[in-house]
Amino acid sequence: MLLERFLRYVKIDTQSDEESSTSPSTKKQYDLLNLLNEELDNLGVKSSLDEYGRLYAKVEGNKAYTNIGLCAHVDTALECSGKDVKPQVVKDYDLKDIPLGNSGLSLSPNEFAKLKELKGKTLITTDGTTLLGADDKAGVAIIMEVLENYLKIETKNRRGLSILFTPDEEIGRGPEHFDPVKYGCEFAYTIDGSEPEAIEIENFNAKSASIKIKGKSIHPGDAKGVMINASLVLAEFMNLLPKEMIPSKTSGREGFNHVVSISGDVENASAHYILRNHDSKILSKQVEDFENIKSKLEKEYPGSLISLQIADQYRNMAEVIAKHPECKNHIEKVFNRLGFKYVYKPIRGGTDGATFSFKGVPCPNLGTGSYNHHGRYEFAVLEEMEKMVQIGLEIFKL
Ligand SMILES: [Zn+2]
Repeated sequence: MLLERFLRYVKIDTQSDEESSTSPSTKKQYDLLNLLNEELDNLGVKSSLDEYGRLYAKVEGNKAYTNIGLCAHVDTALECSGKDVKPQVVKDYDLKDIPLGNSGLSLSPNEFAKLKELKGKTLITTDGTTLLGADDKAGVAIIMEVLENYLKIETKNRRGLSILFTPDEEIGRGPEHFDPVKYGCEFAYTIDGSEPEAIEIENFNAKSASIKIKGKSIHPGDAKGVMINASLVLAEFMNLLPKEMIPSKTSGREGFNHVVSISGDVENASAHYILRNHDSKILSKQVEDFENIKSKLEKEYPGSLISLQIADQYRNMAEVIAKHPECKNHIEKVFNRLGFKYVYKPIRGGTDGATFSFKGVPCPNLGTGSYNHHGRYEFAVLEEMEKMVQIGLEIFKL
């Protein structure tokens, strides 16, 4: 059953680790990967868990059609512990505040408006001491449940199903070692969003910028005309960037420059930024801003050394999907066949699927029926997860 399956998965600690250079980044992600491998085995499905912690499985369908893929990630976010998760199941929700264990925290419809729509539903919450890990174990549970039901359909009446479970999505390394041939599908869907009605085919284009400034240090008493304080030059650099283009002042398809960290003294100062925009042309302009400010300050402070390093992170899958619209047309057909409403939502972030798209497998993102990811207020809605199983299954029906 979906609920038991989900509860079984969230109790396993699978947090990834940004500091690690191994793949997967943490051994404990195998605790869930091995269990999934075993469960696939028990269902009689051929699977292979590779040396980097990528778990692939494939089931045959009607040979006249290409395979379609489903994908979810097993790791959980870094912002909050995923150890000893003690999920609470709230049946027949009455729209009141839900106390999260003995933590003193509570989930309130006044704070989280989504709850107001959920009268009578079954909610799964945390006990206030950890995250829930519905991101993305709701996705994992939905895919396993789709698979169980899929196997009951006659082979000739279904399309082939390719499954992929990845580690390390939360540290941006999910698509590492991705093997499109092994995956063996024409297109795929990640099950890693929130609302079941949302279809996500656009995400940010993403770059990072690293600024390093070398100043000139001298005793402050003798500094006139000589000292270049690297920290002050950095502050000026930051102030010259567009003031409105920051995460707290943007939404929808508006991009931003976000300073993640700064450090500095008189001799050295540095800052790390992430740059995001759905429109790659505007993103190029954001990069130009950084380059222009660098030249301006170099002229103003001869004798200082300013280095600027821009790196590519991920790209907007929309450009791939525009060229290969089958994945979009197919999922629209699925929603229409079921009589479900859908809405397109631009992702203000990235997904594994964005990178898969550029590696030859166009891959929109679908919902999980879970909300408030990455923290103690995370919760899942059982009925919405069930709806996702229905949608997931319909994808493969001829
Ligand atoms: Zn996720």
